[in-house]
Amino acid sequence: MGFGWSRWPVQLALFLILSCTGPWARAQTTLELSPGMAGTSLTDHTRYRHDVHASDDTASAFRRLAAGEFVPLPGGSHEFGFQQGAFWFHASIVNRNTHEQRWLLVQRYALSDSIDIYVKYPDGRVVHHAGGDSLPFEARSIRYRHPNFWLDLPLGEQVDLLVRVQSQSSMQVPLDLYTPTAFVDLTRDAQLAIGIYYGILVALFFYNLVLWLTLRDPGYFWYLFHLSAFGMVLFTLNGLGYEYLWPNSPWLADKSVPLSICLALIGMQQFARTFLELRERWPWGNRVSLALIVFFALLALAALQMPYRLSTTIAAKAVLFGVAWIAIASIVVLRRGYAPARLFLAAWALFLLGTTSFTLVAFGVLPKTFVTEYGVQIGSALEMLLLSIALSRRYASLRQENERIVSDANLRLERKVAQRTQELRGTLAQLEDAHNRLRDSSRRDGLTGLYNRTHFREAFEAMLRESRVLGSPLSLLMIDLDHFKNINDQHGHLVGDDCLRWAAHRIGDTLRPYKALLARYGGEEFIVGLPGHDLAAAADVGEVLRRQLQQEPCVVRGGQEIHISASIGVHAVQSTEDSASSIDAALMAADLALYSAKAQGRDQVCTSAAPYGTTQV
Ligand code: GH3
Ligand code: MG
Ligand code: MG
Repeated sequence: MGFGWSRWPVQLALFLILSCTGPWARAQTTLELSPGMAGTSLTDHTRYRHDVHASDDTASAFRRLAAGEFVPLPGGSHEFGFQQGAFWFHASIVNRNTHEQRWLLVQRYALSDSIDIYVKYPDGRVVHHAGGDSLPFEARSIRYRHPNFWLDLPLGEQVDLLVRVQSQSSMQVPLDLYTPTAFVDLTRDAQLAIGIYYGILVALFFYNLVLWLTLRDPGYFWYLFHLSAFGMVLFTLNGLGYEYLWPNSPWLADKSVPLSICLALIGMQQFARTFLELRERWPWGNRVSLALIVFFALLALAALQMPYRLSTTIAAKAVLFGVAWIAIASIVVLRRGYAPARLFLAAWALFLLGTTSFTLVAFGVLPKTFVTEYGVQIGSALEMLLLSIALSRRYASLRQENERIVSDANLRLERKVAQRTQELRGTLAQLEDAHNRLRDSSRRDGLTGLYNRTHFREAFEAMLRESRVLGSPLSLLMIDLDHFKNINDQHGHLVGDDCLRWAAHRIGDTLRPYKALLARYGGEEFIVGLPGHDLAAAADVGEVLRRQLQQEPCVVRGGQEIHISASIGVHAVQSTEDSASSIDAALMAADLALYSAKAQGRDQVCTSAAPYGTTQV
């Protein structure tokens, strides 16, 4: 098979060996196998005849040969394209190599359907060999991907070699002769290179397969796709596909080349799109890549119908174009600051370098060394290796980026939460403060600022419980300002209010040392819970209060002085009763004592000495 962009190294090596050793360009009818010669091409010694109806048998072919109906190969080429009928080739050979009598004839084109070899010796004996892919692979002299035949070439005897080829595939008959040692030498390096190359590809395939199965990153999938398709291209090109994968399908052997090239191209572009994140980073380039993919897909479909030669030529040229486009895309994305594109670009550069060096060797520009000769293999193996590394680097950087985003987001979230918590705390404190103030104001009297009756009742209940627990006395003082109505009447309500405030403060100040509970009970009445005081002690406190109010006049607005006095009823609470009824009873008793104080002339303290009576202090 001939391909513009990639021939298998064996073919190249052969080309070079022959160009160095053989009479390459000179037409010569008889091929002389000189002493020391190890391998040669028959092309320059071959004449042919096109048997259009495939009607000739061996005898008539030999007759036509004798009649001079065979002509030299057109332009020295052994390729005729797709042809009807059979082709007959003739070469006469004289073996002058004293060491080798057994030679291997190799037809370096794997797809010919049937090949018949007739070797005619000087004694008239004709030996027949059959080959080609219409026969089982095992029929070959040597298990080798190209058809091959052992020939006995006795020393010094001129032998006529007649080769009949009939095939559905392209008519290509590049015939070579090798000594067994030369053939082994020739194939050994190639086999090693094939082994190493596919070893690398298989290892990379499974390594990345595991990564893809684990990470599910589409980049890995398209890498595997590209690697498999590219591996398949080389596999079919060197005849291994036919030997191992579809030995019974010449049709597939033909189509597999353009098909696998198209698949490799699709995989290449799709992998580049994913890897370089073209959709986000370079939308215009992404559209070009998509257009290329569509083109390659259409080419693959067309290749099923198109002549092999045309589709393969287009596909092979598209490879260079595809790689060049990937290089452009990598550079654009790299310039836009996408660091993973650097290694990606290096990988494709290696591939291009390998392919170019191989081509330059073929044209004789570069010397043949292992590196230049196996350029395509080395280049593509290194490319695959670098791509795999680039892929894992990219994955690592994606993961780092993700981690950074997540930790940034966490940090921002934490700050926000802290800020909100702080704000919430402040608001809660304000709310609690407001709530406390509200609760307090609902428990306080607006005019005097003292506790009101509601609060007094609750707080006094607690006081009562505590006195019961501690077994300490608890007293109640009821204070009523005397003739307060008159003050209002004489000085007005505002002055009355001032007097009420003044009296409240004075009572509060006086009670400060006593841990007393003071509240405005209503109008001009105050009530005092006095813990730790029995009746007598409470009466004494009542007396102190009375005197404090009476001693100093209340100075109101306008500097006017108003004398205020109060009557006070004192009662010691009985701790045996339940709290609700004992509070009511205690209030009633204190009120009665107050009533007594009023009745007895005001400005005095009375106690509820006995349950039904009161005593003036
Ligand atoms: P007594 O010595 O018998 O207690 O005589 P009194 O005038 O103090 O008794 P009374 O209960 O008849 O009148 C209480 C007065 O207190 C009536 C009301 O005008 C006055 N008073 C009650 N609350 C207020 C108040 O908030 N402001 C003012 N300025 N006066 C009040
Ligand atoms: Mg009153
Ligand atoms: Mg009064």
